[in-house]
Amino acid sequence: MTLTIGQVFVSGKPSVYTRMKPRILLTNDDGITSTGLWAAYNALSPFAEVTVVAPATQQSAVGRSISIFEPIRANRVVMNGVTAYSVGGKPTDAVIIGLFALRLNPDLVVSGINIGENLSFESVMTSGTVGAALEASNQGVPALAFSLQVEDQGDKFDEPSGITRRFSDAKRVVREVCGRVLETGFPENAHVINVNIPAVVRGGYEVTRLAAKLFHTGVEERFDPRGRPYYWIDGPLYEDAEEGTDVHAVQQGNISITPITLDCTAFAAVGELQCIFDGLTVRREEIHL
Ligand code: MN
Repeated sequence: MTLTIGQVFVSGKPSVYTRMKPRILLTNDDGITSTGLWAAYNALSPFAEVTVVAPATQQSAVGRSISIFEPIRANRVVMNGVTAYSVGGKPTDAVIIGLFALRLNPDLVVSGINIGENLSFESVMTSGTVGAALEASNQGVPALAFSLQVEDQGDKFDEPSGITRRFSDAKRVVREVCGRVLETGFPENAHVINVNIPAVVRGGYEVTRLAAKLFHTGVEERFDPRGRPYYWIDGPLYEDAEEGTDVHAVQQGNISITPITLDCTAFAAVGELQCIFDGLTVRREEIHL
């Protein structure tokens, strides 16, 4: 734990005080070389003790998958003059290594800044950026995911160390949102805060709900040199999102903040499911016997 020694002036007399810097574990899914990750590092390091534990390679869209059939290596590397941990695995593996092997005991886990938006439950459920945050939260650490919209969807597939976009708005958002959460606390009924920054910010923050979809999913069929078909999953973006959703907010140029919960139980369906299985299910009274 780093102690920041400062001076506070009380009634004109200086007295020494100590303040603990919050500890942040920073990860992502674009890999440790991503300019988005280091933009987040630069935004957070002035006020927090930040440890980078990130996948060694591009891991976008792996969701919350976890390496349980392979050993995981965590190499200490120096990048941009900072000691960091490069994990040969998934974003979730990086979080688990940070918490259980490196024992970082962070106050917050931050995942991002992802190159590309993570909007709608279609994306949130496959996003490695959000997956890392979900893992952290399930392990009891408040977590936030940050993603930056790309105007050209092709940018998501470029080498993330070569993305030279301007991160100034995204850095400000990381600083403001994490600062606010550290100061005011994490919402009690949320597990993860999912933040999406438009490519061009035209408005302010908007608390949103997840839209259902971000893409009109499709497949493109091609043929290999032997005449056999193969497929690329692809599709254009939705353009008619409902007001109040994360997709709509970002389309309007607002910064979307969505509270996410880990508990996927469809509570509204419990009664109906009991009716469907009437006579087959164990009665609640019996469970509690
Ligand atoms: Mn990514």
